[in-house]
Amino acid sequence: MDVTILGSGSPIPDAERAGPSGLVRAGGASVLIDAGRGVLMRLAAAGWSVPQLDAVLLTHLHSDHTTDVNDVITTFWVMPMTLGRTLRIIGPPGTQTYVDRSLDLLATDIGYRIDHHDDLTEGPSIEVTEVTDGVCFEAGGLRIVAGLVDHGVVKPAIGYRFEADDSIGGGVACWSGDTVPCDGLDALAAGADVYVQTVLNRDLVSAVPIQRFLDTMDYHSDIDQAAQTAARAGVRTFVINHPVPAPLPGTEGAWVDQAAQHFDGEILFATDLLTVATG
Ligand SMILES: [Zn+2]
Ligand SMILES: [Zn+2]
Repeated sequence: MDVTILGSGSPIPDAERAGPSGLVRAGGASVLIDAGRGVLMRLAAAGWSVPQLDAVLLTHLHSDHTTDVNDVITTFWVMPMTLGRTLRIIGPPGTQTYVDRSLDLLATDIGYRIDHHDDLTEGPSIEVTEVTDGVCFEAGGLRIVAGLVDHGVVKPAIGYRFEADDSIGGGVACWSGDTVPCDGLDALAAGADVYVQTVLNRDLVSAVPIQRFLDTMDYHSDIDQAAQTAARAGVRTFVINHPVPAPLPGTEGAWVDQAAQHFDGEILFATDLLTVATG
């Protein structure tokens, strides 16, 4: 099973980091996680395409994680090879409303394309599954388990655990979403080969005297907390992802060194297109 960071960024636009999103490929299955800014450019760069996706998973409905959901919907719909297929979107309660509103904003374009192409007679076909916990996807040897995490006022927020069965090589990955440490996260990450976690640098954020920035400290794991989760869960590889704020180039090592005070496994600092195998 391969876990690819498609976008390692945050809400602040960054030339090197697309918005939060990831791709998990295992056996014959592939799923997108979140759809931040530029997700489909990064998906193309990873050598993958929208029609190959079996599902789109959303961790929560913050804009940085969902801003390009509309692009995924349109692109899946207009590509000839997906004619007659349904796009599957899995996310927390609220996802159906989010998708319905996305279709509203796309209505003008949908009308143009139906008028123009004889083989397009209907708008996008989307099946939404709202979940808070439990198995939410099973195909091709890949099983995905959702679980509630704690992202403060953003309720509900969920993380995902990916389990590949032995027929496709085995392996476990955890994608935390945005969350502070909590029991739900510990369960999702337990024994994972790869653990991808949104991480906030408390020293850097607390040095910025802007309240709106300081507010972000209360609903993200900081470096110490994320590394402690990695240690508690006994993961093999901890990926520092979605860094808040994005570090100046060359300073990533300080984040890794701080994390290493709590976790003695492998620590990676995410960049766009970083791929980590579970096996
Ligand atoms: Zn975020
Ligand atoms: Zn968030």
